[in-house]
Amino acid sequence: MESPISNVAIVGGGITGPALAIELLNAGIKSTIYEARPQNYDIGGSMVLTPNALLVTSRCGVYDELCETSWPHDTVQLMNLKGDALGSIVVGSVEKYGKSGLRMYRSTLRNTLLAEAARRGIEIVYDRKCASVKENPHSATVEFEDGTSIDADMVIGADGVWSRIHPYLNPDSQPKFSGQMAVLAMAPRNLIADPEEAIMFRLLIDKQGNFAHMPANSQSGNQSVLFFSTFEVPDRDRDGWRKIESDTEGLKAMMQVFDQEGWPETARTLVTKTPAENFFSWPFHTVRLYDQWVSKTGRIAVLGDAAHAIPPSAGQGAGMSLEDASTLAITLGQINQKGLDLASGLGRWEEHRKARIERVVERTQAKSNQRKNTKDDAEQAEKEKRMRAAKDDDDLFWLYGYDVEAMSLE
Ligand SMILES: Cc1cc2nc3c(=O)[nH]c(=O)nc-3n(C[C@H](O)[C@H](O)[C@H](O)COP(=O)(O)OP(=O)(O)OC[C@H]3O[C@@H](n4cnc5c(N)ncnc54)[C@H](O)[C@@H]3O)c2cc1C
Repeated sequence: MESPISNVAIVGGGITGPALAIELLNAGIKSTIYEARPQNYDIGGSMVLTPNALLVTSRCGVYDELCETSWPHDTVQLMNLKGDALGSIVVGSVEKYGKSGLRMYRSTLRNTLLAEAARRGIEIVYDRKCASVKENPHSATVEFEDGTSIDADMVIGADGVWSRIHPYLNPDSQPKFSGQMAVLAMAPRNLIADPEEAIMFRLLIDKQGNFAHMPANSQSGNQSVLFFSTFEVPDRDRDGWRKIESDTEGLKAMMQVFDQEGWPETARTLVTKTPAENFFSWPFHTVRLYDQWVSKTGRIAVLGDAAHAIPPSAGQGAGMSLEDASTLAITLGQINQKGLDLASGLGRWEEHRKARIERVVERTQAKSNQRKNTKDDAEQAEKEKRMRAAKDDDDLFWLYGYDVEAMSLE
């Protein structure tokens, strides 16, 4: 019988890292988080958490706090430029799934989870960047860029799409650009003259572009609106993407395609009146789902975006990452309790999670395709017909009703 996992080194203090640390503690396992960035780093942007993700925030003890700083909503309305409904993206429902979706700043989620982890006595080491990892059958080591290193029973990479740990497990694999990049910005909500429009969750889809706007955070206090569009652009190297990201004037210029006749006044106002420094970009990189997540000894693993980054079109990037955190911690708790073999127990976890995420990737791909431009009116009419026919809320219980405790190593 293997000795139990009693201390884990988590690389990455984004969203998955602190959720994993709290869930490990719930399972009786201590951990330390090593985060490359400083404590006050602002990750930017706004996100929706759907009921499956919110279950994890409840387990981590932060759901009530998040409710205070978020906007609850059930759908994003899809429309064409004539204002005709094309369907909706369902993100929650109290009646069907127990909770509405919650839209919040990404930094609110991250900071709330990190604060809760710290409150529970979990050590978080900032400004500590992992350079490499190594393992033996009984432990694993993180080597940092500052020349120091630490040993733990297990090292888990929650270090995002450009993970240092994923390539250790999959030396030939690189994140792949999906072909789509979002240009986003936040603006004060009162920039939108019509108060009803200012609180709409709306994605406008035309043959030559798509434009979404919605409240970005809470219903009270400092209120913002998020707006974005998804563009099809060529791939670049990492320096090329950094250049795009830092050229906020260029990003604002890209969004001026919506300042023309046909687009609603709200879109035209937002893209013209929002200062350039508020704009940012997000190229959607994906990580091959069928790469290895767990090393042969079971001492090194990845989860979250480091394992399976997916585009945001179905609002499930963080959702899948949070589910990973709970299920991995529960699995390790069971391995400890029952004295099971680490590598085979984690192999079962990996298999279970991949089957679920594969289905989510399919849904994400379908939603991404809706945002692709069409070449002419006939193709657009065909696309709109398909969108109207596709009912999003028929059966989402498989997605939003997921029980993180359902995976058992019995
Ligand atoms: C603008 C935007 C909007 C989004 N909207 C949604 C949404 O609506 N719904 C949704 O579900 N998802 C959304 N997502 C996706 C979601 O944010 C990600 O899926 C989620 O953040 C993944 O969490 P993570 O902790 O795995 O990775 P990350 O959040 O990327 O965190 C990784 C952490 O690891 C740290 N790190 C990296 N390398 C190292 C290293 N070598 N050593 C130590 N630390 C390291 C990083 O600094 C970072 O803090 C959105 C993402 C963006 C960018």
